[in-house]
Amino acid sequence: MSTIATRLNEIRSTLPEGVSLVAVSKFHPVEALLEAYDAGQRIFGESRVQELVAKKPLMPDDVRWHFIGHLQTNKVKALIGIPDLIESVDSRRLLDIIDRLSAEAGIITRVLLQAHVAAEETKFGFSLDELLDYFSAHTYRQLKATHLCGIMGMATNTDDMARVGQDFDTLASLFKRVKDMCPDLVGFDTLSMGMSDDYPLAIERGATLVRVGTKIFGQREY
Ligand SMILES: *Cc1c(COP(=O)(O)O)cnc(C)c1O
Repeated sequence: MSTIATRLNEIRSTLPEGVSLVAVSKFHPVEALLEAYDAGQRIFGESRVQELVAKKPLMPDDVRWHFIGHLQTNKVKALIGIPDLIESVDSRRLLDIIDRLSAEAGIITRVLLQAHVAAEETKFGFSLDELLDYFSAHTYRQLKATHLCGIMGMATNTDDMARVGQDFDTLASLFKRVKDMCPDLVGFDTLSMGMSDDYPLAIERGATLVRVGTKIFGQREY
């Protein structure tokens, strides 16, 4: 068995029922993705539009792509219709552009809203207040062609697992509050959090989707 297959099987054997795995394949060659595919992996995560558009035709049709990177508004058009889920919608402006272009294309785009809880100032995302305002005002009812499927977030980049656990708890309680506040949000059932170094903790704290790259594919060469 290849190293990639071995690592994938190890990770999968620890995932409880109801938790899905995104294999984050950004910066890795298609050969590596195919090894993961042959080991049964079907969900792949990419962070750049061009890279995703280039890899998609080289992979089998039943691959489901998740877009997980910061999406520039001028790249939305090229992306629409390709991913199964855009996990990284990080502003109202981006959400509205996705909705308009999806409506124009006659498709429904599935998205997660990215919440900013980490200590770093550089990470993109909605603040908790912005999200609570958005959902308590039921503004999402204006969306024509976008399906809100849940929340995505990243913990603070630190070895302090207590802080990481706090960030996950914050995301999980936000997710629950939104669900309680908006029972009409059908299919709002995904909480994407946890990466190579912290996905077991994320699962403990309620993640339904984890995004693991390095632990499957090894170090990325940028
Ligand atoms: C790169 C990336 C990951 C995967 O990170 P690893 O540490 O390699 O597992 C997960 N989520 C997002 C948003 C990423 O950009």
